[in-house]
Amino acid sequence: MQIVVIGGGVTGLTSAYFLRKEGHDVHIIDRGDGTNNCSFGNAGYISPSHFIPLASPGIVAQGLKWMLHSNSPFYIKPRLSTSLMKWGLKFYLRANEKTVSQNAPHLYNLLQLSRQLMLDLDRTLNHDFQLQTKGCLMLYQSAQTAKHEAMLAEEALKLGMEATILSKKEVQDMEPATEVDVFGGVYFPADCHLHPGRMMKSLYAKTMDMGVNVHLNNEVQGFETGHQKVTSVLTNRGKINCDHIVVAPGAWLEILGRQLGLNLLLQAGKGYSTTFDGIKNNLIHPAILVDDRVAMTPLGNELRVGGTMELGGINQNINMNRVKPIIRAANKYYPDLHLAMPSAEKVWTGLRPCSPDGLPYIGNSHLHSNVTVAGGHAMLGVSLAAATGLLVKQLVQHEKTEVPAEAFRLLR
Ligand SMILES: Cc1cc2nc3c(=O)[nH]c(=O)nc-3n(C[C@H](O)[C@H](O)[C@H](O)COP(=O)(O)OP(=O)(O)OC[C@H]3O[C@@H](n4cnc5c(N)ncnc54)[C@H](O)[C@@H]3O)c2cc1C
Repeated sequence: MQIVVIGGGVTGLTSAYFLRKEGHDVHIIDRGDGTNNCSFGNAGYISPSHFIPLASPGIVAQGLKWMLHSNSPFYIKPRLSTSLMKWGLKFYLRANEKTVSQNAPHLYNLLQLSRQLMLDLDRTLNHDFQLQTKGCLMLYQSAQTAKHEAMLAEEALKLGMEATILSKKEVQDMEPATEVDVFGGVYFPADCHLHPGRMMKSLYAKTMDMGVNVHLNNEVQGFETGHQKVTSVLTNRGKINCDHIVVAPGAWLEILGRQLGLNLLLQAGKGYSTTFDGIKNNLIHPAILVDDRVAMTPLGNELRVGGTMELGGINQNINMNRVKPIIRAANKYYPDLHLAMPSAEKVWTGLRPCSPDGLPYIGNSHLHSNVTVAGGHAMLGVSLAAATGLLVKQLVQHEKTEVPAEAFRLLR
């Protein structure tokens, strides 16, 4: 089959990889240069520990406190948008115990599968992703957050995942070279991390080497259809015929989905990161600074610091006022690091594709028999990439999926 994958982020690339392995004639189309998407500068966590969907009971109360402060970790830019209102309502309705306990096991299964497949892929590609299995620390500075994190650790243990609650001293013992100012932490040994830029370059090189055709700087602008099928994809550079399409355009999924008659609610959740090089006593373990929602990723002698979630529509403007609290939090937890505020040129930004219930959309369209969608992975796009790619291949070929995919269906 000739298969066109729309979107050359990590979701599109893993889909192309698994499809090409089956011998299909695969084309990836991306409007960018292959590097300017959300998959390049993120924190690089493979986090099976993140099995609680974003839409969860605590987040509504916390989010309401945060949402109007433009320097808080979660910010909704006030604007008149029907799409945002519909998304917000669905988010609110899904952020309850019942939905979370229904959804968490599905997310957990997909995360576990993806972790294993990502380890396999890194091995196949000569450890090009620089994937490390050192686990991840969830760090906090208050007794109140400690209580909440202990509850999450309890949930993880129930699902069969290892989680260890650590005292301040035990956290410090894990980072002997750098002072850590915390109340305590939870350690998830199964979490991993990788270098996202290297992973992306390696996936591009591998898929092209396997014979995938990559069309960069090509924007998909429409489709030709007939007999409930998409027959060709229309780009600003011409038309590409197809037997099947995989729609994986990240934060642009709602827009592109609409052109295919699909009503997929999605908001772009902007985040920032900056990478410091030549760090002397670098961290040994990646860590999430829970109260500030900041991620710290050691990458060799580089240290990536990232965070914030801003629902402000699709734009990639850099607002330095939202970067300041990220650096402040890093210095607060790790006072020895003395990280300086970066200049705007050193700040990367990415748009997380956020579905309202915190689960990705992975499924076949009910309107066209040859359309498969993969998107809406929010803050878990790298963690879920490999399993998503495998599921896409199985959905395209109408095979039984490796893990049940019903929870990720498009109509929900
Ligand atoms: C600060 C930050 C930290 C993060 N940390 C982590 C982490 O540690 N672990 C994790 O799992 N996730 C993390 N994420 C989330 C992760 O980066 C995303 O979920 C993931 O990159 C989404 O991948 P994607 O392929 O779906 O989208 P993208 O990477 O955005 O790719 C979509 C592609 O589609 C293309 N496209 C869109 N529309 C069109 C069109 N019309 N025509 C042609 N091409 C089109 C775009 O150009 C783009 O290249 C983080 C995100 C941020 C912002």
